[in-house]
Amino acid sequence: MIRPSATRIALIYPELLGTYGDGGNAIVLAQRLRWRGLRAEIVEVPAGEVVPADCDIYLLGGGEDEPQVLAADGMRRNRSLLRAVSGGAAVLAVCAGYQVIGATFPAGNGQIHDGVNLIDVETRRSFEPPDVPPPPRAVGDIVVEPSPQLGLPTLYGYENHGGRTRPLPGFRGIPLGTVRVGVGDGTPARTDGVVDGKVIGTYLHGPVLAQNPALADLLLTWVHGPLAPLDGPREVGILRDARAHALAEG
Ligand code: GLN
Repeated sequence: MIRPSATRIALIYPELLGTYGDGGNAIVLAQRLRWRGLRAEIVEVPAGEVVPADCDIYLLGGGEDEPQVLAADGMRRNRSLLRAVSGGAAVLAVCAGYQVIGATFPAGNGQIHDGVNLIDVETRRSFEPPDVPPPPRAVGDIVVEPSPQLGLPTLYGYENHGGRTRPLPGFRGIPLGTVRVGVGDGTPARTDGVVDGKVIGTYLHGPVLAQNPALADLLLTWVHGPLAPLDGPREVGILRDARAHALAEG
């Protein structure tokens, strides 16, 4: 299924959801298509503008508590992201983006705020009883063993978040994986992220797709069908060095 038209990669509200260089994920996806002789177009959607419903892949990055409230409100005003996903589009949502596409998350003032409701998860400062102090902010390298059915190698990234995320009753997806180093969702199951249809949520920054090209190719395969392999020994060597550092930290 090679399509003549360019694959449209939407970068949603980069001013609000772009604190951690997650915009790099758009560049990685576009470049991996171009290296294969395929066309790609990055569609930046500035905050305040309507999210187009005709893109193939939607990217949401990390952000601080208040900007992510604005992002959630902006996306809830029109339901184009939900429509695009029901029409077959893929989503990668990182950290604040992951929290925003869930049902609820904590705003900067501690109040619980409504998310976009694309996936059945909720985020809180803590899932402990009120008399137990909330856990410390999760900051540092994170290494995740992906759920086996995804067919992915070990995932590497960086996390920096206060929120903890868990599935709600009715959740239909699977965890992105099990945390080997770091915190991730911060649940007793020690999982990070979710995969629900073609929607991926995760706490891995990095930008995660630069560190994990197989994850980039999984997203591309979802919207494109099978793709030719790409990475040679040089690319594999660079990643191996970066990953050794993450493991040594853990
Ligand atoms: N503001 C959110 C939190 O602290 C998300 C942080 C982020 O995107 N890195 O949990």
